Amino acid sequence: MPRLHELTALEVIDKVRRQEITSEEYIVSLIERIRMVEGKINAYITTVFEEALRQAREIDKKIQCGERLGRLAGVAVAVKDNICTRGIRTTCASRMLGNFIPPYDATVIERLKREDAIIIGKTNMDEFAMGSTTETSYFGPTRNPWDLTKVPGGSSGGSAAALIADETALALGSDTGGSIRCPASYCSVIGLKPTYGLVSRYGLIAYANSLEQIGPMAKSTADCALLLSVISGYDPRDSTSVNVQPLDYLSCLVDDVGGLRIGVIKEFFGEGVEDSVKKHVWRAIHLLEKLGATYEEVSLSSLEYALAAYYIIAMSEASSNLARYDGLRYGFRIDYDDADWSKIYAKNRRIGFGAEVKRRIMLGTFALSAGYYEQYYLKALKVRTIIRREFENALKKFDILVGPTMPLPPFNLGEKIQDPLTLYMCDILTVPANLTGYPAISVPCGFEGSLPIGLQIIGKPFDEATLLKVSYALERNTDFTRRKPEL
Ligand code: GLN
Repeated sequence: MPRLHELTALEVIDKVRRQEITSEEYIVSLIERIRMVEGKINAYITTVFEEALRQAREIDKKIQCGERLGRLAGVAVAVKDNICTRGIRTTCASRMLGNFIPPYDATVIERLKREDAIIIGKTNMDEFAMGSTTETSYFGPTRNPWDLTKVPGGSSGGSAAALIADETALALGSDTGGSIRCPASYCSVIGLKPTYGLVSRYGLIAYANSLEQIGPMAKSTADCALLLSVISGYDPRDSTSVNVQPLDYLSCLVDDVGGLRIGVIKEFFGEGVEDSVKKHVWRAIHLLEKLGATYEEVSLSSLEYALAAYYIIAMSEASSNLARYDGLRYGFRIDYDDADWSKIYAKNRRIGFGAEVKRRIMLGTFALSAGYYEQYYLKALKVRTIIRREFENALKKFDILVGPTMPLPPFNLGEKIQDPLTLYMCDILTVPANLTGYPAISVPCGFEGSLPIGLQIIGKPFDEATLLKVSYALERNTDFTRRKPEL
């Protein structure tokens, strides 16, 4: 018998609804688990146990009274700490927002609450979501539950680690250049970056608006599909939100990939991608072939420029978005007796931001400055259009495009953090989906020793259903999503 905190979200919801367990019992079990393993993992920046227990009791009462229940009734969700939660500290893992308590909920949080989900805490991340390892957090790094000496991936590393360590049933992440998929791959969970515009960004603290989406992370494909169904859909408060028909993604999960046309992206298996990674990803492709899909290799030559374009665009947007943190209106503020506001502003930012954030603000400011704008920012936008066209064409011929999520397995904590360029290179396979806005998912597809490897699947705009269907088929025909680390 699995213990309550080990259950998938759908199992919890089902058992609570049938009154086999109470939501309170489940939350108690989860809190005990978190207390037991958090010292090793550091997945959470903030936990809200008292409030979670109060909500659980309320849901149990609702059940006893036979009231209508939401789709996530009684189950726990961990929320990345760059998504605003009313009354719960939201830090972006930065000293700058160390004491920030939002007076409002992000749209995704409103939707979770409407479906009776219970927020259990806010998860660790790279500062302002800038990174791929969760090492730049002001609150210390998160460790990979599969091997505590390795990084969990990032920037949503806390969400992924909390899931695989059974410290939550569901989690939200955000993905600007891979931040959902990278930690999903490194912790062996499922993580989906939705099509740009499918999920509201209202209440997501911005890093690079034109690239990012909030998305679901989960221990099973069905849980991921359920969470996506709850958080997706039009929101008039986000001007980039797209008005598409809401879907029940759970109903799309059939174990049938017959006739599916797969394009294997040649450039995703190039230099810099480790052989061990290639081996597991190819096994997954051959498994899909055995299950009735066909594949063909496809070359997307513009990908050579994707990483450069991504970093110019992301840093440019970041430099503009982060200008608001001056410590005068809110955020970190030093004690000062100096009357010169510009000195105060500079000091607040010097102390409030970490090194990586400052590096990006400076590079982004440079790329946008007069004389360099055309050379860098404008050129990057043009490259972005070329890449999007190439993907659009490829997806006329194929239903999905596949490759690895990450070019190498999880590496040691501290190994790459001193060398920003090497770290940026790790994003080479994830940024194309953000530049194009297309949906992409990372699905566990093997283990190299004790370390997980992820398969990345990129789909047509708003065709999350196909990504989830393929993920479901892989999950049903392998045992990777059922494996758990020993803690
Ligand atoms: N690692 C990438 C970056 O640092 C992506 C981060 C993200 O998706 N938020 O920009």
